[in-house]
Amino acid sequence: MSRSSAFRAAVLPVLTRLLFFALLLAFPVRAAQVWLRQWDVPFELSAWGIAGIAALGVSLVALVVGCFLRRRLLLPARALWGVLLLAAVFVSLGDLLAFAAPWQLHFPLLLTMGCICLLWGLLRHWALLFWAPFLAIEFLQFIGFHQYGSRINSLVLAETFESSREEAMAYLTPLNLALMIPLVLLVITLCWFMRRVLRHRSRAELLNTGLLFCGLCAASASCLRPAGQTIHYYWPACEVPELVTAVSEALTINEATINQVESLSSPADTLSSISTLSGGEGVVFVLHIGESIRADRMSINGYARPTTPFLASCGEQLINFPSCISAACDTCQAQIAILTDGRRRIFDKTPGMQPTTGSVIDLFAKHDFTVYSFFGRRCAEKLKYDRVVRILTRRSEARFNAPGYPWTAVDQMQSVLQEQSPGSNLFFFINNEGSHTPFGYYDLENPPFTPTTPDFQNPAAQAQEVNNAYDNTIHYTDEFFRRVAALLKGRPFVYLYVSDHGEYLGHDGRWGRAFLGQNPHAYHASDGCKVGMFLLYSPEFARLHPHFAAALERLRANSRLTVAHEHIFHTALGLFGISSPFYSPSLDLTTPSPQPYSGPQPPRHEG
Ligand SMILES: [Zn+2]
Repeated sequence: MSRSSAFRAAVLPVLTRLLFFALLLAFPVRAAQVWLRQWDVPFELSAWGIAGIAALGVSLVALVVGCFLRRRLLLPARALWGVLLLAAVFVSLGDLLAFAAPWQLHFPLLLTMGCICLLWGLLRHWALLFWAPFLAIEFLQFIGFHQYGSRINSLVLAETFESSREEAMAYLTPLNLALMIPLVLLVITLCWFMRRVLRHRSRAELLNTGLLFCGLCAASASCLRPAGQTIHYYWPACEVPELVTAVSEALTINEATINQVESLSSPADTLSSISTLSGGEGVVFVLHIGESIRADRMSINGYARPTTPFLASCGEQLINFPSCISAACDTCQAQIAILTDGRRRIFDKTPGMQPTTGSVIDLFAKHDFTVYSFFGRRCAEKLKYDRVVRILTRRSEARFNAPGYPWTAVDQMQSVLQEQSPGSNLFFFINNEGSHTPFGYYDLENPPFTPTTPDFQNPAAQAQEVNNAYDNTIHYTDEFFRRVAALLKGRPFVYLYVSDHGEYLGHDGRWGRAFLGQNPHAYHASDGCKVGMFLLYSPEFARLHPHFAAALERLRANSRLTVAHEHIFHTALGLFGISSPFYSPSLDLTTPSPQPYSGPQPPRHEG
């Protein structure tokens, strides 16, 4: 007998027993830990726990019976080591560094070992067709989590399906591309190793061993649920349904959103009238749906940095709303809530909160405003965002894209103003990149806040640079406001700005909005849902009609209320004196006592 086979024969079985005793011991050790540290953790035997104990019992009885019948029903030591090694690598990929506390690791480890044995027992080498893509996706999750702080969830997927080439390219960095090579190599190696370890094992051995490990995991994990436990505790068994749900949710959300907006009838199709304008006054109404601007990052709301110097200099002409709650954490849903009479996101089932009519822009077009829409880079027709926003702005005389930088839109507006007679009433709808990730739109040559990175790679590691870049994008947008206001100087104009949603820049350790895909309710629990909103007007506008002057004063008086996207539709109509069956005075901020926002919102900070 060679030395190595003597080692295998003598030492491996001993080590194996020690190891599996250790794994089994993890259960009482964990129990003791819970007992010593957290007296209040309830002992609660779930259905999974009962199933786990049953599986364990069946497996142990089979083992005893197998001994009598001289049939092997447990993998031999070498194969067990192999499976343990595989499970350790799998768990490291999907679980170890990202999700589970080290003392929780024996649960996913046991479950992974169980799943490897069970799947091979059922499918033999076809099991690789499952494991290879699974490992590749988990590897990508791992890379994604460590770079961007988010896993694949429905919001990430919905945004990915929506992303422009430019946005997608921000994530296709040389580093990420280089990581693809070890990813492929690792997956191939693991699959080769799994086949080598398991190919000669009998089905009965594999199934019974699988049952033993899965049973151990379910029984112990279910009996001793640690506080704050996440679903990743049950990795990998939870991952497949999670990923499938994320994909189907993302597709369903996108399709349902488009269908709902398409099915809305236009408010212009019912009787309406305007009491203030008869056409030819040369009024310009700018409605700007901003992108990703948190209220607390604007200096007009008390932020220490001068991010909004122009707005701060506007004095009386600015009516600022420091407390505006956004309806949804995704652009499309927020736009629907802003432009229609919808008050919540489409999937919120609260009665009376869904849109009953289409875009408010239709009513302005009907009452002699010529509508022009100014977008950022993207406005292809296939994506959900594009399809939705095109429906909402369908009365546009023309739509413009800003192929370079959002400031390009200022020149486009100028040419529209030159083409149109000075007396025409114009409606400018603006929706450009603003402060969207990866925070690339600012004056790169001359950024006011440095050092910066226009790069959203590993934001936590460069928190200050990313925050500087974000503040720069707000400063840039403030300059956009200044340029547009300068362009409209001398005309009666109103510039109503509201951001679609906020952003997370390390707040509570969160980066970006992607984590909300796993828990959309978290959105309204933090200040990430408080967005910038203001109205800027020219003295010419206030002088044009007594209704305007009175409405602006009431708007100013109401600016301290907690307002929301749901007020925009009705406030725009109220400001211009447009009557419509869809207009609700209680949501019009130009009335003496409108109803403040009463939906979900973060707790108030005192002081
Ligand atoms: Zn957005």
